[in-house]
Amino acid sequence: MSNTAGQVIRCKAAVAWEAGKPLSIEEVEVAPPQAHEVRLKILFTSLCHTDVYFWEAKGQTPLFPRIFGHEAGGIVESVGPGVTDFQPGDQVLPVFTGECGDCSHCKSEESNMCDLLRINTDRGVMLTDGKSRFSIKGKPVYHFVGTSTFSEYTVCHVGSVAKINPAAPLDKVCILSCGVSTGLGAALNVAKPKKGHSVAVFGLGAVGLAAAEGARLSGASRIIGVDLNPSRFNEAKRFGVTEFVNPKDHKKPVQEVIAEMTGGGVDRSIECTGNVQAMIQAFECVHDGWGVAVLVGVPNKDDVFKTHPMNLLNERTLKGTFFGNYKPRTDLPGVVEKYMNKELEVEKFITHSVPFTEINKAFDYMLRGEGLRCIIRMGD
Ligand code: NAD
Ligand code: ZN
Repeated sequence: MSNTAGQVIRCKAAVAWEAGKPLSIEEVEVAPPQAHEVRLKILFTSLCHTDVYFWEAKGQTPLFPRIFGHEAGGIVESVGPGVTDFQPGDQVLPVFTGECGDCSHCKSEESNMCDLLRINTDRGVMLTDGKSRFSIKGKPVYHFVGTSTFSEYTVCHVGSVAKINPAAPLDKVCILSCGVSTGLGAALNVAKPKKGHSVAVFGLGAVGLAAAEGARLSGASRIIGVDLNPSRFNEAKRFGVTEFVNPKDHKKPVQEVIAEMTGGGVDRSIECTGNVQAMIQAFECVHDGWGVAVLVGVPNKDDVFKTHPMNLLNERTLKGTFFGNYKPRTDLPGVVEKYMNKELEVEKFITHSVPFTEINKAFDYMLRGEGLRCIIRMGD
């Protein structure tokens, strides 16, 4: 037992007080975990675009003050009453979408949309008692997607935490807790390209490039990367992307450009931008008769996906996925093993690293479209 078990921990957290304003490092109180909860010491976290959308709150519900962060790795500091499947010291990855293990989704082989713990971006409190475990001078600070990893300590529901190989380097595998697994799974588990297929990937950030990596592992022969930011194309060559399309370079809609390049459309497409127009393009650029499009990007609250129904009648399939259809507790340890067995490279997604006190730099990099993932080192 750690000597902090059962006590309030005071530690540093990066608090978002207002939409779009730099985070400020504050001393917060972190209450002990309740039933079905664990308290984690976060060692490394990184920034995913989903954090940025909810921090900007331009097209999303604002909820402040809030502690963001959901791509991270840490160790269990203490466990709540009755928790038997975790012990202090276990090495874990928290995940933004959980797995209760008991609901019809958790029991289905096809779904990871747990009834109890599926992603909920608007809830800022714990499920157990509807309260926050974070406070500043007694005033509550909201959680984000059940993880809130921009804090030295955080409290999560046990269903939102995956126990992983204790030998895995957390400064690398932390990015498997969201972006890389999401993109990889969107390709391997959802789009499922066949050997020799053509695959279009919209958005060449970490999520899109992980999707490209999944397409390459599946044996796709052409991987067409689509992005508005030309600086992405050089980076993408290291991820098996074979051709590039910048919609800004063409007068025609990008779906037509891709149809011309591929004799009628790609076999599979995976959208990783969060832009609703790109989602529509990604769907409309798949081949009729067999094409499958997978949406991964998180849309704005009021977005509407509009396409002519004939595009579906012509035997195209539209799918969507959270976390690449991986069940976080059941499947994520295996994704970590893929890295440990050198079947999956993670290092190439990590382009920056900053100490916790400089967390706002990670936001600047992402807003400028510079690099892929920035590791935030909690210990420094
Ligand atoms: P990122 O910002 O690193 O990458 C997004 C890329 O998309 C950028 O290179 C940008 O230039 C490009 N882009 C934006 N609009 C475009 C458009 N209209 N056409 C072509 N390219 C465009 O972001 P990321 O962290 O890789 O995340 C990608 C998306 O995936 C985000 O929407 C994020 O919220 C979402 N996401 C979803 C899940 C899930 O489980 N479904 C998990 C993680 C992230
Ligand atoms: Zn994410």
